[in-house]
Amino acid sequence: AKQNGRRCAALFETSMHEAVQERRNIEVDLRAALKRNELELFYQPLVSIETSEIIGYEALLRWNHSEKGMIMPDVFIPVAEDTGLIVQLGEWVVRSALHEVANWPEHLTVAVNLSPAQMRSPNLMPTIINALAATGIAPQRLELEITESVLMNDNQSNVELLHKIRSLGVRIALDDFGTGYSSLNYLRSFPFDKIKIDRCFVDGVDSREDCRAIIRAVTGLATSLGMVTTAEGVERSDQLSQLKLEGCIQVQGYLFSKAMPAASVVGRIAPTVER
Ligand code: C2E
Ligand code: CA
Ligand code: CA
Ligand code: CA
Repeated sequence: AKQNGRRCAALFETSMHEAVQERRNIEVDLRAALKRNELELFYQPLVSIETSEIIGYEALLRWNHSEKGMIMPDVFIPVAEDTGLIVQLGEWVVRSALHEVANWPEHLTVAVNLSPAQMRSPNLMPTIINALAATGIAPQRLELEITESVLMNDNQSNVELLHKIRSLGVRIALDDFGTGYSSLNYLRSFPFDKIKIDRCFVDGVDSREDCRAIIRAVTGLATSLGMVTTAEGVERSDQLSQLKLEGCIQVQGYLFSKAMPAASVVGRIAPTVER
């Protein structure tokens, strides 16, 4: 058993070493990727439960690696966050998404994800203001998605920054609601426009009473605070009917569409609009 333990320790060290090496590779590659235009935004529709119409799209980052193929954000966003590269990357995302929206009908919105590190960058406000000005997009069409971690520890400077952004007319959504150390205090310390209910609750809404109860409570709370609710990760029509019953406003998920390249978004809306 002792020998076995030693072998496991050695294996563990090897895999730790490999993991560290892999992160370093990603970091080096990611710096190059920004220069080589290997990053691309995909778009996933947000749908109104009441009308079944598309309201807008969430921009989701993809990396077309020259050798490894398509890399998903869960792999490289954490590395980008640790290395500070996320600031540059996030600025690119804001600019690209707004330039893309310029090709869409005016009623469609775009949601962009913000990392906590971006909130600490003095460039964030200027990036948003400049990109809005350069594209002429109405600020109301831009929605920024942040997670609870941004508001933790009574982070007063982040709350102030969010107020400044919101005073431009840009909307703010609270992403992944229910997955962090959720505190109702967050809903008091900042007036969100929207709460996005995490997929882990949505998943059981058609089969489990506890998930249903949570969704019912969150939508009730959001509605009475004047906030919209979006259910994330809707995959089945049974979930959709239950979400409708619970008073949820918007839905997003594979039931409607996966995230798709910008060209598919434009292709989808082209026949119905004058372009
Ligand atoms: P998120 O913001 O919670 O985005 C939703 C994720 O759920 C997306 O994964 C989306 O493709 C996936 N999804 C949507 N509908 C369904 C469904 O019905 N079933 C299932 N199983 N999954 C669904 P994706 O694109 O891999 O993104 C993962 C995470 O990476 C995002 O989670 C977000 O936290 C982060 N991310 C993506 N793009 C950006 C970005 O531009 N900036 C930052 N800071 N983070 C980003
Ligand atoms: Ca999001
Ligand atoms: Ca989410
Ligand atoms: Ca997430």
